[in-house]
Amino acid sequence: MPRLLLLLPTTTYRTAAFVDAARRIGADLTVASEQPSTLEAANPAGLLTLDFQHPERAADQAHDFARRSPIDAVVGVDDDTAVVASVVAARLRLPGNSVEASQAARNKHKQRELLAKHRVPAPQFALHPLARDPQELARSITYPCVLKPLHLSASRGVIRADSPAGFVAAHARLVAILGGCDTEFLVEDFVPGYEVALEGLLVNRRLHVLAIFDKPDPLDGPFFEETIYVTPSRAPAGLQKTIAACAERATRALGLVEGPVHAELRYNERGPWLIELAARPIGGRCSAVLRFGEGVTLEELILRHALGMPIPSLVREQAAAGVMMIPIPGAGVLREVRGVADAKAVPLVEDVQITAHPGERLVPFPEGSRYPGFIFARGERPSAVEAALRESHRRLTFTLDAA
Ligand code: ADP
Repeated sequence: MPRLLLLLPTTTYRTAAFVDAARRIGADLTVASEQPSTLEAANPAGLLTLDFQHPERAADQAHDFARRSPIDAVVGVDDDTAVVASVVAARLRLPGNSVEASQAARNKHKQRELLAKHRVPAPQFALHPLARDPQELARSITYPCVLKPLHLSASRGVIRADSPAGFVAAHARLVAILGGCDTEFLVEDFVPGYEVALEGLLVNRRLHVLAIFDKPDPLDGPFFEETIYVTPSRAPAGLQKTIAACAERATRALGLVEGPVHAELRYNERGPWLIELAARPIGGRCSAVLRFGEGVTLEELILRHALGMPIPSLVREQAAAGVMMIPIPGAGVLREVRGVADAKAVPLVEDVQITAHPGERLVPFPEGSRYPGFIFARGERPSAVEAALRESHRRLTFTLDAA
């Protein structure tokens, strides 16, 4: 049986979906994590500790391991482990994206430079030192703009500013969020428009579009908390083609050739704009909305592709499907969540998963980015799925205590 090395950070939500997928396709699985597991000694081929913070060191560790238990493919599950996977793959001479390409997908500035060089429509941008006087900088900028950290994800620290005073306030928040971790940040033109997310799989440089999700709640800022994703998109077919073409050009610009991609794009009267492309699948628990062929999961497609196994179908099921990332209800300590059974009882709703636990501190955007849970729905039409998600959410009550 082929052996798969799966890079799973200890804090990820993705474990169950990927481990189940590995089991279903019958792969021998080695789970690597950044913290040693007490079970490692009992299961030396199945568990491994890798230094995700230092990809070259992780590659040395994986190389040692592979001498004992040869590895056929390595898969990361998020932005950081996608980079580690490419470094490990290069060391073990396994197929995958080049280290350069995966780093370009991870670094928002490098990504912007490559998109501009290859003339992929994307916001105008400039890199600035965080230490530069924000008052002075604020006078030189065109508004509205977006301030953005280079390495965070899930919209953390992404803030729109409409005026010099707004810029100075946003800058102070960003400095606090970064807490000395970064020395530079991006300022981009704000691109107005309707946002979609594209889920895709690159197979030998060709982008297969697995789903385009509408994001029906406007994302106009000042912060960019995601809420509802619904697929299939209700955008006209011609527009969806141009969106897919824009995403594919972006993969070429970055040099990505294999594996999952998740892209955020906007469109307006000037066509589609690439906001961000990541070399990983959709995050959190959201992938549960996607099913292919006879009920195959996204993770199964990804692992089959990585191991060179046949893929039964890349075509999503007929039904419309959606997920709501439950908005963070405020700042405070979660005491309780009521109405979950009622929320689950809404027709078309398949599941309501509350991932925050009582006693957990909830931190709103832009400082936080951890949603307290997810609602899933499936039905014939996207509009009915969207309505079901909204109704289900209305039935939930979050009680918070002051932090
Ligand atoms: P992250 O990787 O943290 O999610 P993104 O660059 O994808 O960061 O930005 C998060 C969200 O912020 C996007 O999905 C979009 O809604 C909004 N956004 C980011 N940059 C821009 C921009 N230049 N114009 C308009 N909206 C933007």
